Amino acid sequence: SKRAGRGVVRVFDESMDESIRFRRQIEGGLSEAIAKGELKMVYQPIISRDGLEIIGFEALMRWNTEEFGPISPAMFIPIAEESNLIHELGDWAIDEAAKTLQQWPGQYVSVNFSPRQFRRQNFVGHIIERVQHHGIAPDRIQIEITETAIFDDAERAAETLYRLRQMGFRIALDDFGTGYSSLYNIRRFALDCLKIDRSFIDGMGRERASAAIVHSIIHLGRALGLEVVAEGVETQEQLDTLLVAGCSHLQGYFFSRPVDADIACELAERRWLG
Ligand code: C2E
Ligand code: CA
Ligand code: CA
Ligand code: CA
Repeated sequence: SKRAGRGVVRVFDESMDESIRFRRQIEGGLSEAIAKGELKMVYQPIISRDGLEIIGFEALMRWNTEEFGPISPAMFIPIAEESNLIHELGDWAIDEAAKTLQQWPGQYVSVNFSPRQFRRQNFVGHIIERVQHHGIAPDRIQIEITETAIFDDAERAAETLYRLRQMGFRIALDDFGTGYSSLYNIRRFALDCLKIDRSFIDGMGRERASAAIVHSIIHLGRALGLEVVAEGVETQEQLDTLLVAGCSHLQGYFFSRPVDADIACELAERRWLG
């Protein structure tokens, strides 16, 4: 009956609708965020174990909204990823990173790409064009993708990575160990770097399994001639364990939080941390 129908609508309104409306607001806000100047990129140093030199920075997006204040990329990136918005945000991120790179001495910048961006038609042509437009050598850009991006269609992903690497881009596999890619698959991909997910670094001191996974990834990386970045390093104890285990690169609050471009620039010029 009509009345029952209305009741259903009301229940829907009061519970589910709240989160749907919030998502819509996020989507709407995001589509205007670039034009309104609400987005910025921040940069977190990536450190080599040799002398604790800054060899690169990871670029991370920040969104400060008028309405809700700062919203985490962990919240808004997945929403953008559900539509073509992710391409707009992604292009903006590359442009920002490239402009910032023009001011740095020699470091690279590591840019996050979501699966949808990576699977875009002519991704390789698109990204090389953008980077060349800013006069940046591809070897100063590292492309960070997760296992999810390459798992679905491993054949096509392998081809894309091969072509990117041939053009000089660096490739990092992000959040390594959390996805589905088998070790068998890893050898097919042209990679420079494995990034150990923060959750394993965090768990390292408490759980044997996390410590074992960290050690395995470091060994695997070394055996394959890849750099291994431990992310989320927060304590001296974690750092010591990672250095003893032979981890080649480090990133985390222990060294620096992600910082604005001008501060990153000063760090880049100073070059050494520690
Ligand atoms: P991610 O790529 O795994 O980035 C690492 C996250 O760990 C960042 O969170 C960083 O700020 C945080 N982090 C770094 N060191 C530490 C530490 O020592 N302790 C703790 N607790 N956290 C640390 P953030 O910036 O909030 O980004 C969250 C996620 O959002 C990223 O995870 C990435 O998946 C996504 N993201 C951020 N910026 C972009 C972007 O420009 N494009 C795309 N596609 N995704 C992005
Ligand atoms: Ca990342
Ligand atoms: Ca990560
Ligand atoms: Ca992550």
